Amino acid sequence: MSFVIPVPHVTSLPVAGGLRFPVRRIFCVGRNYADHAREMGAIDQAEGREPPFFFSKPGDAVVSGEGQVAVTYPPLTANLHHEVELVVALGAGGENVTVDAANGLIFGYAVGLDLTRRDMQAKAKEKAHPWDMSKGFDQSAVAGAICPVAVSGHPAGGRIWLKVNGQVRQEGDLSAMLWKVDEIIANLSTLVRLEAGDLIYTGTPAGVGPLVRGDVLEGGVDGVGTLLARIV
Ligand code: MN
Repeated sequence: MSFVIPVPHVTSLPVAGGLRFPVRRIFCVGRNYADHAREMGAIDQAEGREPPFFFSKPGDAVVSGEGQVAVTYPPLTANLHHEVELVVALGAGGENVTVDAANGLIFGYAVGLDLTRRDMQAKAKEKAHPWDMSKGFDQSAVAGAICPVAVSGHPAGGRIWLKVNGQVRQEGDLSAMLWKVDEIIANLSTLVRLEAGDLIYTGTPAGVGPLVRGDVLEGGVDGVGTLLARIV
């Protein structure tokens, strides 16, 4: 087959052992920890379990690498925020997946950052505009290496944390997720047919805050790994 323009490059993440995981789409869960919902002023989500809601980033918004990942500070924001998250990497797809079958779709897990133009997002919320440009800009999905399920198992609990320039900014536990990973997959698969290569960012604990150029970020999830990045 002949294409009229160069075929887009396949975005991928490193997997331990020198292999690569090709990224298809990126889905993100909003307000999945009560303490973060509360700090964002979303009391409804903090008080009870509202149905999960999702937003997306383009697959090629992923930025990763070996060692310290260089992340470019995006244009048109003066308030770039970090959100450290457990990332689920799907090795198989499906629609209307049951909660019991959901873990069977997972290839592995990674530590990620859902970077956000918080000032732009606040304006979007005010005007009931979409979040795409506040959430889905270039290099907005930072991710570390994928740890295969064979190594990590399916972590239901464990510390999730982020340090900026050596200071702890975010700290939580996976067990505090309002919607658990298997429930997220089941719910999302009623909205779209999930496919191998899809990534799901599962939400962030409290402590989100601004970044500036030169900041060095170190994040981790117990049993999954760590992520090192620098804002340039
Ligand atoms: Mn997030």
